[in-house]
Amino acid sequence: MNKSDATMEKLVSLCKRRGFIFQSSEIYGGLNSCWDYGPLGVELKKNVKEQWWKSVVQSRDDMAGLDASILMHPHVWEASGHIDSFSDPLVDCKSCKRRFRADHLKEQKCPECGGELTDERQFNLMFKTFMGPVEDSQATVYLRPETAQGIFVNFKNVQASARMKVPFGIAQIGKSFRNEITPGNFTFRTREFEQMEIEFFVKPGTDTEWYEYWREERLNWYIKLGIKKEKLRLRDHEQDELAHYAKACADVEFLFPIGWSELEGIANRTDFDLTQHSKRSGKDLHYFSEETNEKFIPYVIEPSAGVDRSTLAFLADSYVEEEDRTVLKLDPRLAPIKVAIFPLSKKGGLLERAKKLESGLRKFYTTFFDEKGSIGRRYRRQDEIGTPYGITIDFDTMENGTVTLRDRDTMEQIRISEEKVAEEIGQRIAGLPD
Ligand code: ATP
Repeated sequence: MNKSDATMEKLVSLCKRRGFIFQSSEIYGGLNSCWDYGPLGVELKKNVKEQWWKSVVQSRDDMAGLDASILMHPHVWEASGHIDSFSDPLVDCKSCKRRFRADHLKEQKCPECGGELTDERQFNLMFKTFMGPVEDSQATVYLRPETAQGIFVNFKNVQASARMKVPFGIAQIGKSFRNEITPGNFTFRTREFEQMEIEFFVKPGTDTEWYEYWREERLNWYIKLGIKKEKLRLRDHEQDELAHYAKACADVEFLFPIGWSELEGIANRTDFDLTQHSKRSGKDLHYFSEETNEKFIPYVIEPSAGVDRSTLAFLADSYVEEEDRTVLKLDPRLAPIKVAIFPLSKKGGLLERAKKLESGLRKFYTTFFDEKGSIGRRYRRQDEIGTPYGITIDFDTMENGTVTLRDRDTMEQIRISEEKVAEEIGQRIAGLPD
């Protein structure tokens, strides 16, 4: 790793200082593994979700969106297998009492103090709570540990109401909760996080083809949004890593500052989920094809991504330290602020002219107005948060109506009419790969 690469410490520090991500409940000493997105973080995360939604839902004719509730009927989790087997193997150190995920350990001793470990026991990762005023087992509900089940139970509703024909998919973005044994590494593994999931329903027999398609499609999404190819890879699961119902599974991995780690999983889940829900609910979840007069339970390809993990990956990948500046070379579509406006002086009507220009640009882009400090310092403050375009209003603007437009990455400046600047930025953004 060279000097210009991000470390987790540098990212955490930048995120706090500039308002991307704060520790949850910080004034009370923080809540372990929970994070709050600040003014810039919320924009960045929203842009990640928007790009995903645009790519997998709005620009396709074979996908429908959904926003299911977090709390679901408890039978859902019986049918899905989560109550019986959504668990991780847990071990405790007999000396220092620390807890570890047994499958993450390289040796059979405590990685912290070398102490002896207890036998493995299975620890269910679902958060439990109660619905209604009575706290008994009848009232137990779970915070969903994945958004996927909300899609499976709505398969018929969506298919019928949107008149979708197999092959088609349902996509959803939402919060999930897992009582992780060893959360950590900033927002990489938390107990509350957001997922972007697709369940793509296909005719049995065509599943391998669609699985291959989605592996490539999802890998390319990160590349098109600027992540360097050499920091991404697809890793196929070994046979013994596969869930019992999965025919194949691959992870999109990113070279995080902590090493290669999962960003997204793509799985061929066969007809397991719909079959299980059919059995448990007693409702027929077969699909009938009018074209071929065939009735079948579709197979499902599931690309399942983490919003927080991809946001962290976009931050880590874009972080560059150059000689006299730190830059987030974020894709302009993801950048929290698109355009910064700098009046060179507060005098001569420049401030008012710049304000006017900003209010026009605000209709199309997120903007930031900065009149304080030297122009160099103002540029550097924006570089550090990834603002791709900077506009400077100077005394020539008052004479001939032109401004300078600066590009964050090349630092190249062009002189352009203030009337044309919104269009110029629009064209630059529109020219990015879809
Ligand atoms: P891991 O092996 O890292 O625990 P997983 O294989 O259990 O992850 P999936 O169930 O496939 O993860 O979830 C899909 C995606 O959701 C992951 O690729 C990741 O981006 C995100 N995700 C899962 N668990 C967490 C978590 N605890 N914190 C943040 N994101 C998560």
